[in-house]
Amino acid sequence: MNWLRLDNLEAADPIVIKDSDGRVSMVEVPCTTIGTTAPSCCGKMEGLGKRTLRVRDRRLEPAPTWLVIKYRRWKCLGCGSAFKEHLPDVHEQRYTTKRLFHDVSMSAIKRPFEDAGTFHAVEQTFVKRVFDSIAKEKLDDYRFVAPRVLGVDEKWLRKKPRWVAYDVENGHALELLQGRDERTIRDLLNQVENPQDVEVFCQDMHWPYAHLAEEYFPDATVVIDKFHVVKMASEAMDEVRKEVQKALKGEDVLRVSNRRRLFLRRWDDLSVEGQDLLAELVALDDRLKLGYTWKEKFFDIFELSTRRDAEQAWIAWQMDMPSAVKAHFRSIRWNMKTWGKLIFNYFDQRYTSGKVENFNGLLDRMNLQGYGYTFPQLRAKALLKYGNLVPKADLRMFMMEHSMGAAVSEWLAPYLEPDAHLDDPKDGTGWYSLGSGIPMAEWVTDLEAGRF
Ligand SMILES: [Zn+2]
Repeated sequence: MNWLRLDNLEAADPIVIKDSDGRVSMVEVPCTTIGTTAPSCCGKMEGLGKRTLRVRDRRLEPAPTWLVIKYRRWKCLGCGSAFKEHLPDVHEQRYTTKRLFHDVSMSAIKRPFEDAGTFHAVEQTFVKRVFDSIAKEKLDDYRFVAPRVLGVDEKWLRKKPRWVAYDVENGHALELLQGRDERTIRDLLNQVENPQDVEVFCQDMHWPYAHLAEEYFPDATVVIDKFHVVKMASEAMDEVRKEVQKALKGEDVLRVSNRRRLFLRRWDDLSVEGQDLLAELVALDDRLKLGYTWKEKFFDIFELSTRRDAEQAWIAWQMDMPSAVKAHFRSIRWNMKTWGKLIFNYFDQRYTSGKVENFNGLLDRMNLQGYGYTFPQLRAKALLKYGNLVPKADLRMFMMEHSMGAAVSEWLAPYLEPDAHLDDPKDGTGWYSLGSGIPMAEWVTDLEAGRF
């Protein structure tokens, strides 16, 4: 123990290195090991002399700080094996002290990588390396407790389908999967704690999900997400609009095309001006008017209060359908025929993924903002930051970082016993890997504020 507050190293005075402008660019602390004895093996140990290891440590100035450690090496004369001196203060990968690893990992979970790097005076690549390492350790056997209403959906991110499982009632994402192949999904479902607690399973119109639901949650009511159902009517409307556009001439083509989103809005959500404009546009071609009307009528079915009313309205909707637009609504009829029972289950269990649909846009926004996270980092960071997987006290400690400024390392040192849980991340009860999911509202707020 010494001024560095590391138990197993003896530190000499720090060497402060300055650049040509007189600013501190680096600090080096020469260290030697204390109290080491040679390891034992089958034969006599021969000393191979000392080597030097440079590892990052908490910064002493607002500049990178390195411990330059002289450590010993041996060779067993019996079997020829080589041994390096064990360094209890140094992380097993030997590029940082354990305490800096802990500090940086907490900061990397809590704030943008760039901020964490600046604060600890380390490069972003260092922050990412530490983060990937802690994420692997903490999420290796991540699992979540079954929510009462479990929703699954595909999201597109960076042009790839991702799979999201969420707690619909609470608006929490429970898992983000890189792919959506059946094996990956099965691996996940196998890990759900207390699957019998799932009462409602929300999904889109994708057969494999329905089969998986039956298998894993046999007592749950399967509900096709209303969002996906009504979306079909919007798509049909869009088709009608495209077809009509081909037949229009001159200015009318642009008038319609520039206002294509207007056709997708609900009538009651439009302002008076919007309604006037839309009325003018649909007057250009009867098919626009019919398409819009039948789209609206379809949405209305899902606003009704009972399953019986909705089923009757659906029958009427089909019977009254004008032949001019019938072809464009074909896929609705087909899907309603195929999925009808599960679609109308919505009237018994009114759950929809409205909250999670925002999430689609959210991931797109993140992509645009160029946070620089890979998909696995994005997932890991969100789960670790919000999912109750890291002791709250550890994360709270680092909320004070900025206000404490440069003196932080020294100030914090006596209060942190950071290594205890890192040495034993799994305490046998699985506490650390049982997550509570990502509260979407909070995530959105943090993203928008640049705090993620
Ligand atoms: Zn040996």
